[in-house]
Amino acid sequence: MEIRIPTGKAISMETDFFFLGDALALDLVNTEVIVRRKPADLLKTPVDLAGWWHMAGTQYGLKAGLSTAITETDFRQTKRLRQALRGLFTSVVENRLSPESDLEILNAVLRLCYLQADLLPNGMLAGTQHTDRLHPLLMAVAFSGLELLTGVERDRLRKCKNEHCILMFRDTTKNARRFWCSPACQNRARSAEHYHQTRES
Ligand SMILES: [Zn+2]
Repeated sequence: MEIRIPTGKAISMETDFFFLGDALALDLVNTEVIVRRKPADLLKTPVDLAGWWHMAGTQYGLKAGLSTAITETDFRQTKRLRQALRGLFTSVVENRLSPESDLEILNAVLRLCYLQADLLPNGMLAGTQHTDRLHPLLMAVAFSGLELLTGVERDRLRKCKNEHCILMFRDTTKNARRFWCSPACQNRARSAEHYHQTRES
């Protein structure tokens, strides 16, 4: 089954996706959420993924590959990569070595990205892509993940401090003091703390 990514208003954006991770790979991981204390997956079908990819394109100013159809295979590969990225990011947050199985999934995707790649003086990457072997979405997410895991901001990876929230983000604050995914989570945590303090006193 192939679903065309909308170029106009063909799709109804019924799902609210979160773009608070400050990196494409984190925002993909954040398509798994907790709703009323229960895990929920915002990507149930390739249509959902097409909607997410379209919104991610707007969010990050992506131009290439936004109109490439998403197949069932692309969908399955993306979900597999999402799971691996969660494992890899979590291991960084928890200061553990990366799980081999998750590394292998990311590396398998990375191997399919470029036949040959060159860094140019202006900081751009030029190369021959295996465009027929991998959806541009997978390529963009894999590179975003690679950048987070190998870059100087690796220690800026965070999981929301709210124990009932599983969202992850990159802390871009000057003094590295962002602990919550959103003000909503922060407020919830503060009122819970206040509740406990009041009970204890
Ligand atoms: Zn949160």
